[in-house]
Amino acid sequence: MNRRTLLIPELGDDGLEIPYFEIEGKRDGPTLTLLAGVHGAEYASIAAVREFVRDLDPHKISGRIIAVPLVNVPAFWARSAFVVPADGKNLNRCFPGDLNGTFAEVLAHHVFSSFITHSDYLVDLHAGDIPEGLEPFTMFEESRVESASLDLAVSYGLRHVMRQSIAARTVAGSTASASADIGIPSITAESGQNGLLDRISIETHLAGLQNLARTIEVLDGDPLPKRQVIVHEGWHWLRSERAGWWQPTVSTGASLKSGDLLGTMSDVWGEVFAEVRAPEGGTLLFLTTSPAVSADGLLLGLAKN
Ligand SMILES: [Zn+2]
Repeated sequence: MNRRTLLIPELGDDGLEIPYFEIEGKRDGPTLTLLAGVHGAEYASIAAVREFVRDLDPHKISGRIIAVPLVNVPAFWARSAFVVPADGKNLNRCFPGDLNGTFAEVLAHHVFSSFITHSDYLVDLHAGDIPEGLEPFTMFEESRVESASLDLAVSYGLRHVMRQSIAARTVAGSTASASADIGIPSITAESGQNGLLDRISIETHLAGLQNLARTIEVLDGDPLPKRQVIVHEGWHWLRSERAGWWQPTVSTGASLKSGDLLGTMSDVWGEVFAEVRAPEGGTLLFLTTSPAVSADGLLLGLAKN
């Protein structure tokens, strides 16, 4: 296993260093790239990549595994949820990046050109960030390689799988969408919540990575039988027009009907000014758990059934 560092000279006073691992297998095969910490406080996913590479044996690998446990180094040190501290941008909306752009866009450019473009498969690990509850799911993008992306998602073993059509991309500029757009099968894998380092969420990612790597035959061993999954075709991301106190009345993973009450928004005096209801039936995959919601703030993600 080789420990390497990607140096980005344009960022910071002395350049930004991103540590990563390169594990060269003893036999030929594809290149599997793992990213975590694109959001720097999604600790369960970062922990999973750290642990996964530690236990890898090159004799059991065909091809190559590139593993970047912490992409967004400045966000990690700042304990910054969702955004890069230098410019306030969400790195996972900036891909494939721009060498002449702001901090996040330059970072995205280097991550894309140094790691993603050389991959045969990409897995970008995430979790719910500090103010965010989450039901585990995988997500893939409509593209010419989407059946291979769906296979990756199914092999990760989580019950809920989100397919995002290009027309209805709630998340543009993600690692997975930028990869899919250049023909690299890719998924976003989500397990963990609220910035917690909980063992179950880490193990969920580890089991997913192992089974995925076996399925694409980068890692020796038989994959598990294919799990039945629910493929959701797009979703609703509900926002609050006004700033206020958000009080959800549902939990992540809940199966909801059209019109069900999801929570309320109230003012500083406790007066409810909005009831938030399900616009159609679906499954609640993520939920803002912090009551502090600013104007146009995101409340939850409801996957269509
Ligand atoms: Zn994330």
